[in-house]
Amino acid sequence: MATITLNPGKDRPVQQRHPWIFSGAIKGVQGYVGRGDAVDVCGADGEWLARGTWSSGSQIRVRLFTWDADEALDETLLRRRLERAIATRAWLGYAGESAACRLVYAESDGLPGLIVDRYGPYLAVQLLTQGMAARAETISRLLADLLQPRGIYERSDPDMREKESLPPGEGVLWGEPPPEQIRTEQPGGLAFLADLRAGQKTGAYLDQAHNRLRVAAYCAGQNVLDCFCYTGGFSIAAARDGAASVIAADTSAPALAMLGANADANGVAGIEPVEADVFKLLRQYRHENRQFDVIILDPPKFAHANNQIERATRGYKDINLIAMQLLRPGGVLATFSCSGLVSADLFQKVVFGAALDAHRDVQVIERLTQSPDHPVLLTFPEGEYLKGLICRVL
Ligand code: SAH
Repeated sequence: MATITLNPGKDRPVQQRHPWIFSGAIKGVQGYVGRGDAVDVCGADGEWLARGTWSSGSQIRVRLFTWDADEALDETLLRRRLERAIATRAWLGYAGESAACRLVYAESDGLPGLIVDRYGPYLAVQLLTQGMAARAETISRLLADLLQPRGIYERSDPDMREKESLPPGEGVLWGEPPPEQIRTEQPGGLAFLADLRAGQKTGAYLDQAHNRLRVAAYCAGQNVLDCFCYTGGFSIAAARDGAASVIAADTSAPALAMLGANADANGVAGIEPVEADVFKLLRQYRHENRQFDVIILDPPKFAHANNQIERATRGYKDINLIAMQLLRPGGVLATFSCSGLVSADLFQKVVFGAALDAHRDVQVIERLTQSPDHPVLLTFPEGEYLKGLICRVL
């Protein structure tokens, strides 16, 4: 196995168990290391620190798996980590035959580069580093053995694969291909259909499962506008909990079609789907002097790199400002950002700026984060990306 030596002064994050080593921290490599190979990491003084997988070409050159010199980076380690991740989700209560949840959340579960989402009897897998891509066959075999799924399907995020100089990864890894619609049970007794092959992400936004229930608690008897609704997660929770009316807006026609099927699956009626660009729709509603009691803003990731943060904050401010203008006094704004690069602090500042410009007093009622099947490891705060504020707009 090759050994990586760090530059002086770069030991500390590794000793504190941060799992990433950037290319700039590396002084040299002793021995041959190929794409995805296991490597040992030593400090500038030669002391052994940790072991991980190598990613040639990527900015994050090594992902660390163990800080125990006696622990090999082999199938036994992968099996133990998978067992631990699966046990955590069972402990959290994601247990039923048709449960949907994130079973493995990469670094947070000690498995950098690996995401496994369960949709009832099918698994959707993302292999996002050279290290995980090289271990695809082992991972599939272990998952098949531990979970006996009907099928394992790869849906790796193409942008992240590209950063690792990996070709797009999609297709059946094991067992049967998933059907077009899998019916899943999600927290709060809601049923959602997921399309693992053609849906966004791996089929659903599992990270919002708990937040939908929190937001729905403010929707009984209210006129609700669900912006960036995808397949209706928030809309259906709101309708089920007694919303007087729900308008659900998204640019994706297939997502809105699935929203109709999801409404049927939950026995709720009356959600009005609107195929529209939310930036334009909000302006149109303002022009028409429309008012709402509850507005949900759950936009896609606006910041994919550091140089996009400023543009992203302008986007967040724009939609939050208009949403505040559309709320009746005492209305509720449930606003989210899933851009990991926009901190919770910065996001709150953006919402603050919107409130100032809208001339409204705004109180934060609840702070939300990603659902508990996306845990955050304390040594890896980067694992936290979703933040939400439920605000009362006076
Ligand atoms: N709220 C959803 C998840 C939203 S994901 C849930 O709970 O499941 C973000 C959504 O925004 C995607 O469905 C995407 O199609 C949609 N989208 C992206 N840009 C948009 C725009 N400008 N206007 C409307 N929808 C947009």
